[in-house]
Amino acid sequence: MEALVDWQSLGWQSLGWGLGAILLGAAVLQALRAVYVARRRLRASQTGCAQRQQVFDRQLRSALQWVRAAKPIFKAWSGPRSFQVAAVVDEAVDCKSYYLVPVDGHPLPRFEPGQFLTFSLLVDPHQKPLVRCYSLSDRPHEDYYRITIKQARPPAGNAELPFGLGSTYFHQNVHADKTLKVQSPQGAFFLDPTDDAPVVLIGAGIGITPILSMAITIAHERSEQTAYVFAGFGNSREHPFRRQMQELHANSENVKFDISYSRPMPADNLGRDYDHRGYVDVARLRQVLPSNNFRFYVCGPSGMMETLVPALRAWGVPESHIRFEAFGPATVKGMKQVRTTDDIAEGPCQVEFLLAGASLAWDGGFESLLDFAESQGVPLDYGCRAGNCGQCIVSVRSGNVEHIQAPGMPLDENQCLTCIGVPHGDVVLEA
Ligand SMILES: Cc1cc2nc3c(=O)[nH]c(=O)nc-3n(C[C@H](O)[C@H](O)[C@H](O)COP(=O)(O)OP(=O)(O)OC[C@H]3O[C@@H](n4cnc5c(N)ncnc54)[C@H](O)[C@@H]3O)c2cc1C
Repeated sequence: MEALVDWQSLGWQSLGWGLGAILLGAAVLQALRAVYVARRRLRASQTGCAQRQQVFDRQLRSALQWVRAAKPIFKAWSGPRSFQVAAVVDEAVDCKSYYLVPVDGHPLPRFEPGQFLTFSLLVDPHQKPLVRCYSLSDRPHEDYYRITIKQARPPAGNAELPFGLGSTYFHQNVHADKTLKVQSPQGAFFLDPTDDAPVVLIGAGIGITPILSMAITIAHERSEQTAYVFAGFGNSREHPFRRQMQELHANSENVKFDISYSRPMPADNLGRDYDHRGYVDVARLRQVLPSNNFRFYVCGPSGMMETLVPALRAWGVPESHIRFEAFGPATVKGMKQVRTTDDIAEGPCQVEFLLAGASLAWDGGFESLLDFAESQGVPLDYGCRAGNCGQCIVSVRSGNVEHIQAPGMPLDENQCLTCIGVPHGDVVLEA
């Protein structure tokens, strides 16, 4: 009987199937491995790409931060530029805003909120122009700048003295259509463009101008940043930008105002017109703020600056979190941050003013070379007396001059600002 099953051929067949299956399995495994390896390579290369992208982004961000941080010290234009007064607006008693448009019609460069403009005013045609600085009081706009000026009255108890020259010139002689010569925005007191940590902005009297510029900019351009604004005035008559502050307070989520009046009028209503009776001081800050963990920007009259800035330090605010500007001499008592004149001027030395032909003994008793020169009858040019406008730049022929605070503009290696400069040993100045 013929076998129903050919066991021998079946054995070979099974062997063939088995081997085929093994080969197929191996091929599938190989293919799977290849796919796995290819996917891993792809993932690795994607991760590498992502990492390279992250490194690139980080480098780009830090380069941008550097550029943004360095930009404010470079001038947007050099020399004077003509501006026409487009409008003059009364803001409070003795206080007016001036809206300035460029005569050349070109868009205005962006400034950093907190910076100021420098004006050369021909107050007396027989004298050299008077140089004065005024802070920009609005946020950056391409078509106009706004400054706000309080007329400087004689100091209390000295009514016989004249009103301030520059501010009175503005109030009496600068009307719509007048043309003014203006230097590019500058100044080292400005809202840090690289930091969006919460800020406390403190302004009193006319010192509100740079502070308001910062507050408006934060409200309009930096919704992620929180700002508490503390503003101090005598009363509602002396309170500029009242409506603008109320609107900002009501309409912006991230900017809140706290208004202090030191001498409210009978009609001024606590809770409606102002929030606190008295000065802006650390006691008030502590009532309103959740902590001292903020960046502080301060601008106000010398009395406030002399008490508030040291009080912030005493409250534990780190030096690096306090920025301030005084609208007057740079050396307001108690505010020197960088180094004191005692640190720098080590005892007596000789200061030679080459052009004036005077060689004088410096004994360290003056706040600046400018004060020293004036006291000795050596006339030097000056503007802001705060190290900001550059009007008092002189060349140092030999020796060293140190600055008691950072100059508000770039200087050549051999230049100094006499209003914030003190000699470090014998010096010869081209002045
Ligand atoms: C960076 C910076 C920004 C500024 N921003 C602003 C701003 O936004 N708004 C603003 O209004 N100001 C601002 N200022 C101040 C401004 O630059 C002027 O200093 C201010 O207008 C006073 O100048 P003036 O020419 O009117 O007064 P000055 O003629 O310089 O007189 C100053 C004061 O001295 C008094 N005086 C006159 N003669 C005598 C005397 N013999 N003895 C004693 N006192 C006398 C005057 O009555 C006046 O009160 C800023 C200053 C700086 C440095």
